[in-house]
Amino acid sequence: MELNCYRVSLPLIVPFTTSFGTQKFRDALIFELNKDGTTAYSESVTEESPGYSYEDNVTAIHVIRDFLTESIKDLPEPKEFLERAGWIKGHNMAKGALEMLLWDFYSKEAGIPLYKYIGATKGNAEVGVSIGMDEIDLMMERAKDALKRGYKRIKVKIKKGMEEKIVSSVRSAIGEFPMSVDANTDYTLDDIDTIKSLDKYGLKYIEQPLSYDDLIDHSNLASKISTPICLDESITSFEKARKAISINACKVINIKPGRVAGFTESLNIAKYAHDHGIHVWIGGMLETGIGRAFNVSLASSSFVDYPGDTSPNDRYFKKDIVRNPFTMSDGVIKPNDAPGIGVEVDHRFLVSFTSERFKLL
Ligand SMILES: [Mg+2]
Repeated sequence: MELNCYRVSLPLIVPFTTSFGTQKFRDALIFELNKDGTTAYSESVTEESPGYSYEDNVTAIHVIRDFLTESIKDLPEPKEFLERAGWIKGHNMAKGALEMLLWDFYSKEAGIPLYKYIGATKGNAEVGVSIGMDEIDLMMERAKDALKRGYKRIKVKIKKGMEEKIVSSVRSAIGEFPMSVDANTDYTLDDIDTIKSLDKYGLKYIEQPLSYDDLIDHSNLASKISTPICLDESITSFEKARKAISINACKVINIKPGRVAGFTESLNIAKYAHDHGIHVWIGGMLETGIGRAFNVSLASSSFVDYPGDTSPNDRYFKKDIVRNPFTMSDGVIKPNDAPGIGVEVDHRFLVSFTSERFKLL
């Protein structure tokens, strides 16, 4: 078998601004596995710097090349791979990249699309839009445009000091339509009054208002505001999700499969949340068409009940590395019915945007 990694940099159509900063490129690691005529792909959700997580592209390459390739050599089932990799503390993004590669491989071997291979499926993914911070007029325009395009939920990025202006303006632009906000960890418990002031806007949830790895302060905050809390950054594993639910730190969970070590943990989180009355949706990390295909497959699971951030590819990239990107109709994306993740990779384009290539096995 052969295992390659391509580091690619794709320009985004619209720079994406959150409380963390502005992103103009998606600097992605794409993994490619070849074995007896089957080619599987996956994507690491790490970025070029550790601004989102302690993991970045360089740590992912290090952990995968120096420690994880040994565990994937004989192509174990995804669960078995995770057990073997269990001695490595954290680094769930690195683990997730290889774990999902195995899901694509095994569903292709079985001749089944991944969204069916994972079990109970709704057959499609409901999609919400995520609008980055920009001038207020532009954000209002983008929100109205999202309504016209049929998105099922409108989410806007906020940061400290801008929340009231953004939320009141966008709310007035879209009326009663389901709306949420994402603070990307910008607040502390000192800001309870500010966060509470958003209660009057009838938001579906406020996403990750407090620190990136916190559960306890969120639980405290949840008891003082009426807007439900959605945890995103804090959910890095099933165990973190279980603990969050056990202390009422959230009513909603945003699962990013690439952040929680892949599909095995994602499905466990989704089922556990479902059994405990917690809503679940699937987020995104500005993935290319490869990572996006995994997200859409997972978002189609019967255990996912809220619209996710899995917008069609052309919202982010002029040209993607897949030939058959997803399209959305009436706020819904249907996964492709080809085996595995169902996307066809434009290899020549992939290579033309590759800045570094690693032969791992
Ligand atoms: Mg978020």
